[in-house]
Amino acid sequence: MALADELRRLEEQLTELLLEVQAMRRNAERLEKQSGELVKKASEEMIADAGYDALAKLYADGYHICVNYFAKRRLEDEDCIFCRMFLQERLEKAQHAS
Ligand SMILES: [Zn+2]
Repeated sequence: MALADELRRLEEQLTELLLEVQAMRRNAERLEKQSGELVKKASEEMIADAGYDALAKLYADGYHICVNYFAKRRLEDEDCIFCRMFLQERLEKAQHAS
C-alpha cells in the first residue's frame, strides 16, 4: 500500500511538472513568434528607408537585402533571386521617380 501511495504522489508531481513544462513551452513559442515578427518589421522599415544605392552597396558587400534574410550574409557569391528582384524593382522605381 505504501508503495502504491508513493507512486501516486510521484504521478501527481509528474503531472504538475508536465503542466508547468507545457505552460513554459507555450510561453516560449509565443515569445519566439513575437521576436520573429519584430525582426521582420524592423527589417521592412529599414529596407523602406534605405535608398537604392545603399541597398545595392549592401548587396555587393555580400549581404541579403530581401525581407526574408535581410542583413544576413550571403554564402560566397551566392546570388539571391529575392534580393535581385527587389533591387530591380527599386531601380525601376528610382528611374520612374526622376
Ligand atoms: Zn536575399
